[in-house]
Amino acid sequence: MEYAEHIADLVGNTPLVKLNSLTQGLKPLVLAKVEYLNPGGSVKDRIALRMIEAAERSGELRPGGTIVEPTSGNTGVGLAMVAQRKGYQCVFVCPDKVSEDKRNVLKAYGARVVVCPTAVPPEHPDSYYNVSDRLVREIDGAWKPNQYANPQNPESHYLSTGPELWKQTDGKITHFVAGVGTGGTISGTGKYLKEVSDGAVRVVGADPEGSVYSGGSGRPYLVEGVGEDFWPDTYDRNVADEIIAVSDADSFDTTRRLALEEGLLVGGSCGMAVAAALKLAERLTEDDIVVVLLPDGGRGYLTKVFNDTWMSSYGFLPPDSSGATVADVL
Ligand code: PMP
Repeated sequence: MEYAEHIADLVGNTPLVKLNSLTQGLKPLVLAKVEYLNPGGSVKDRIALRMIEAAERSGELRPGGTIVEPTSGNTGVGLAMVAQRKGYQCVFVCPDKVSEDKRNVLKAYGARVVVCPTAVPPEHPDSYYNVSDRLVREIDGAWKPNQYANPQNPESHYLSTGPELWKQTDGKITHFVAGVGTGGTISGTGKYLKEVSDGAVRVVGADPEGSVYSGGSGRPYLVEGVGEDFWPDTYDRNVADEIIAVSDADSFDTTRRLALEEGLLVGGSCGMAVAAALKLAERLTEDDIVVVLLPDGGRGYLTKVFNDTWMSSYGFLPPDSSGATVADVL
């Protein structure tokens, strides 16, 4: 018989798949690392597991403890799944703009979700940041993973994502492309790949236009989970050889093409990373092997990237593009 003891034991070892259609006319082999096949549905399962296990070892997280983190997305799911296995409570703090569906996913895993008003400044006592700090101070046995500063975030990629890619490509990978949010993925994976290849692997970050990593100030963009308006501790500035800025329009167009042409229903930051990988591949040769990491699946974005009305409202699709009539189809 072959089975895992718990779903959390199945984190990592995600497959690589070749991109066939989007890469037409390009010379290198472009492979995608499909992180939505992690059990919590995203790359963040990797950091959740390692941050929790390191905190157990250091004694910061003790039996019966409570994990408190300001997150509404993938990191929360990963933390909640691992917490379920290990008997910890989870309290997640999220701004009121986060959809009810996302909050319900976290609640489904048994987490408690505290919603804070978006319309208050960061120094206000009810702000997202102040509420999570207060919960950490006042809950007995609370521990805050803090994915933006926790060294275990990049370390998890140094120890898992990087070695997996080297092994899966038989040491033939020449370029690694990933979107940058906390910077954990690119810093940890990139560092490992550079070390193991004696500096031969080129590491390329993908960033939404306007974010700090590509020289912006943090101007709002719509793609989620990537780009920042500050430089997190988890981003190692010595790893990426290059950062490619991608517009929202390009990110979303590529995201939709991944589903239509490759059968990959993935999130908007995946489209952004692939758009950057394709730009990079234009200047590469048949000898190159590009790996692009796809952080999560597309189900969490059905009301946005995959909703024609939403896309039209931002000018990413023509105004009359939503829906098809019977006559259109016949
Ligand atoms: N895409 C999505 C959907 C994410 O949630 C994240 C994490 N914020 C990233 C990309 C970027 O990964 P990292 O934080 O490791 O830079």
